Amino acid sequence: MTAKPAAAAARATVYGYPRQGANRELKKAVEGYWKGRVTAAALRETAAGLRRSNWQQLAEAGITEIPTGDFSYYDHVLDTSVMVGAVPERHRRAVEADALDGYFAMARGTEDVAPLEMTKWFDTNYHYLVPELGPDTVFTADPGKQVAELKEALALGHTARPVLVGPITYLLLAKPAPGVAADFQPITLLDRLLPVYAEVLAELRAAGAEWVQLDEPALVQDRTPAELNAAARAYRELGALTDRSKVLVASYFGRLGDALQILAASPVEGIGLDFTDSGAANLDDLAAVGGLPGKRLVAGVVNGRNIWINDHQKSLTILGTLLGLADRVDVAASCSLLHVPLDASAERDIDPQVRRWLAFARQKTREISVLARALARGTDAITAELAANRADLASRAGSALTHDPAVRARAGAVTDADGRRSQPYAERTAAQRARLGLPLLPTTTIGSFPQTDELRRARADLRAGRTDTAGYEARIKGEIEEVVSFQEKTGIDVLVHGEPERNDMVQYFAERLTGYLATQHGWVQSYGTRYVRPPVLAGDISRPEPMTVRWTAYAQSLTAKPVKGMLTGPVTMLAWSFVRDDQPLGDTARQVALALRDEVADLEAAGTPVIQVDEPALRETLPLRAADHAEYLAWATESFRLTTGGVRPDTQIHTHMCYAEFGDVVQAIDDLDADVISLEAARSHMQVARELAAHGYPREAGPGVWDIHSPRVPSADEAAGLLRTGLEAIPAERLWVNPDCGLKTRGWTETRASLENLVAAAREVRAGL
Ligand code: GLN
Ligand code: ZN
Repeated sequence: MTAKPAAAAARATVYGYPRQGANRELKKAVEGYWKGRVTAAALRETAAGLRRSNWQQLAEAGITEIPTGDFSYYDHVLDTSVMVGAVPERHRRAVEADALDGYFAMARGTEDVAPLEMTKWFDTNYHYLVPELGPDTVFTADPGKQVAELKEALALGHTARPVLVGPITYLLLAKPAPGVAADFQPITLLDRLLPVYAEVLAELRAAGAEWVQLDEPALVQDRTPAELNAAARAYRELGALTDRSKVLVASYFGRLGDALQILAASPVEGIGLDFTDSGAANLDDLAAVGGLPGKRLVAGVVNGRNIWINDHQKSLTILGTLLGLADRVDVAASCSLLHVPLDASAERDIDPQVRRWLAFARQKTREISVLARALARGTDAITAELAANRADLASRAGSALTHDPAVRARAGAVTDADGRRSQPYAERTAAQRARLGLPLLPTTTIGSFPQTDELRRARADLRAGRTDTAGYEARIKGEIEEVVSFQEKTGIDVLVHGEPERNDMVQYFAERLTGYLATQHGWVQSYGTRYVRPPVLAGDISRPEPMTVRWTAYAQSLTAKPVKGMLTGPVTMLAWSFVRDDQPLGDTARQVALALRDEVADLEAAGTPVIQVDEPALRETLPLRAADHAEYLAWATESFRLTTGGVRPDTQIHTHMCYAEFGDVVQAIDDLDADVISLEAARSHMQVARELAAHGYPREAGPGVWDIHSPRVPSADEAAGLLRTGLEAIPAERLWVNPDCGLKTRGWTETRASLENLVAAAREVRAGL
């Protein structure tokens, strides 16, 4: 960009901000309300106070147009369902009796009414409540929340822009309501939905909105021609309304592709595009459609979902190009800041040098305003900030944390052979059978046993210094003894140690690998009032010492039955962390894989005959566009094979994933070359077993026969029925018997009963073979 100022003063804006407050005040207030300790009035007051302070933070950081309506007690998609009156039949009475309690009933269910289903918001780790729609759905406008929050912000003197989930994204995220044909397509309700959006737009205009933002991230995914037509129609019709504010259609999480031309040709006044690496193609695409003459372009140049400082020089180059392509260019984060923690400066435990590389929501808002200032007044206006930014980037690039020569040399020397087992499955399975001596339909579990209050208390005691390490470890050993003896008594064939020492399947390993950082306050919303603190994969990864061997070996010392070692795989280690953005993900995955490979080797050397490497995130990490799948799956499967490929033929490698639909990754699952895979299958009546069979999956598999998501105990008959269904797809020599997933969220009572039934079912079906 040149030092020449742009014509109109650029605005700095964001699409949304973390809702929880610096001390998770929102979580406390909402949960307090659920428990009856906080009144509705007090909850409302806490929420209003948080909005006020968020807006003030934004304004002070130099954000000149703030978002409203992005705040939520639980979830913004649920808020949208309320806004358009899409309340499921079963919740209607509760909502009519009390709007707030009805809202939470939709989110969480009640004793007799199920909640809305929850699923991941695009490829983030945020979960939304899935709208349930059907041919009988009647939409009605309820703009109350949007209007009230806009008025609050305007009364405080802010320039405010209401943010709504757009109609296309809303419908594309919905699913057929219970009782509605599974092939019903909610997008067919568009004509019914648009008048409701028109009404909301009119109300927002009346309340004083100059601009309204409609979020359409669903348009960065592959869309059918019919869906693209729907988008064209929606924005033609909304654009043609006279009683409305100016409309900004925001896209994020990637390139718009075909939808860009559609929006560019529509009468909306503004378009928001992602110009980070994932949306980089937007730049050329925008030039190809002739830019956005007469429109406002909101340029998402600051990455809204990672936690790293921006590269200002790079952003300025992009912004410079964009100035020639639209009437007006404003600066934003690429997506809502909902997906990052609030404030990096609160991380007092992180080395100050490293802390300078971090940008959470507060830091990002300052970055955005610095860039907007450069757009308005030229780069001379940000000379000091540019120099500081350059210095911080240089410190990161030159640091020993991000560049460990030993790690790099090792990763560079990896060959194809490292990721290949020394024998093909057909040969090594014979060696494994001879070593393990298992019956047909062997029984096992996925790893974790109930994480009891006692275990959590033991960890809290250790942290607080009330117990020393020896005392803590004695408690963990005691737990392992109980878990092993229970499994022996119950007759399980391949035992586990129960993972009592693990607070979380990613965090446990992150705490033991060099290159990972932990945050103290880095909370991000996972769903509702659940917040997580993902570890930060900041540097080159290495493993100073074994991480799990002593616990697995201790369990093995207690029994003659085989004990399975448990590790979290490289893809999941990346997916559930904040990952460095200064090298390709595949390079990072390879480093993690090599560290895990050492752990696998140590487990094997300690006599562990079975090692499971969990990859529950393999499918959820699939890129949003099909065109990007192959590249991802190549490094994802390579990293798994690198983790496991070095073992002897008679060491059995298991993997585990938990989801019901996986048709699109079945080839990748095959490419992992694991000896045994366990999968979630109980609720879908062994659907995955049929999908594996249809693919010709040649190795062993354990489709789950116990849905562990609820405390319900499956009877032996029920489990046997599922096993027989499994046998129709997978031959007895290759079928395993296990639950859907780990048992850490279950209680001991149902765990005991369910596993006893599972073993009884295996015996019964075995006897009939
Ligand atoms: N081994 C882990 C456990 O049993 C797997 C958890 C998961 O798949 N999410 O808890
Ligand atoms: Zn699982």
